[in-house]
Amino acid sequence: MKSNKKRKAEIVAARTKKSEKNSAYINPYREPVPDWAVRVNPDEIVYHSLFMDIPLFYLDREFNCKKCGKTEIWTAERQKWWYEVAKGSFETTAAVCRECRDKKKAYVDQQKAHLEELKKKKPHQNEKFFKKT
Ligand SMILES: [Zn+2]
Repeated sequence: MKSNKKRKAEIVAARTKKSEKNSAYINPYREPVPDWAVRVNPDEIVYHSLFMDIPLFYLDREFNCKKCGKTEIWTAERQKWWYEVAKGSFETTAAVCRECRDKKKAYVDQQKAHLEELKKKKPHQNEKFFKKT
């Protein structure tokens, strides 16, 4: 088991690293780029304006889910994926937390499965009776 002293030192170290990452002194629009930074690849960005300011690297961003209000971190890696792979507009940011997105996906999948199930079902023997023609 870890001693309280050691545990406290670890917490302080993690906090220091976190605050360094979130520090206002780190400007993603200016050099230097820290070694832990997730770099922006300007060739993959979709430009919607000639005057768009593109940062040199992504920083983890906090946001509040618009559905449940929970605060979640939009990580630098996810931002890179969104802007450079999914080609999301630079004007868009994360709006819904992972949990709410998973819930919605599960619901949509369930609906799809239900519709498939209905298609497979044999028609009722008196179907003609129920149908107005
Ligand atoms: Zn949510």
